[in-house]
Amino acid sequence: MPEKLHPKIDNGLPKESASFAGGTLVCACTSKPVKVTVKGQIAHNHACGCTKCWKPDGAIFSVVAVAGTGDVTVTENGDKLKVVDPSALIQRHACTGCGVHMHGPVERDHPFKGLSFIHPERFEEDGWSPPGFTAFVSSIIESGVDPGRMDGIRSQLKTIGLEPYDCLNPGLMDYIATWTAKKSGALPA
Ligand SMILES: [Zn+2]
Ligand SMILES: [Zn+2]
Repeated sequence: MPEKLHPKIDNGLPKESASFAGGTLVCACTSKPVKVTVKGQIAHNHACGCTKCWKPDGAIFSVVAVAGTGDVTVTENGDKLKVVDPSALIQRHACTGCGVHMHGPVERDHPFKGLSFIHPERFEEDGWSPPGFTAFVSSIIESGVDPGRMDGIRSQLKTIGLEPYDCLNPGLMDYIATWTAKKSGALPA
């Protein structure tokens, strides 16, 4: 029996459309849903096993991507949003009605500053860039997944084409390390 990883990856990955120019994220509330518009295509979409990302019911992983914070605008019912953990790097704005995280800007000095984390499955529109890898796979154990299931879950992710990493993928890890090296002077700024 395959594991239920996430509804957007269990039955084949979503298809990217070259004409996707952004869209509207909508929370799960049946009345007065929060709406957030995102301009342009999303970047670095991935499945994430960390314990902080919002996941739909029954999913082991979240699907999360980034957009420029300047391209993300709360357009309706923003009064329902509350930051989950103000001390966290990602300021995850959750809907107090349904719990969905609607946007998560990074505001402090960090390589991800200026980016906002969003969950593309909440787009009303199709055509957003599909997930390309899996981050923080080992962290699903912290959510209660039996360690004995990990080999099966990792091989299932590889079969889908979402290479499993226990932190971020090499591209993003190199990006973070480069930013840090320029900051410390180990590399020329
Ligand atoms: Zn809601
Ligand atoms: Zn995460």
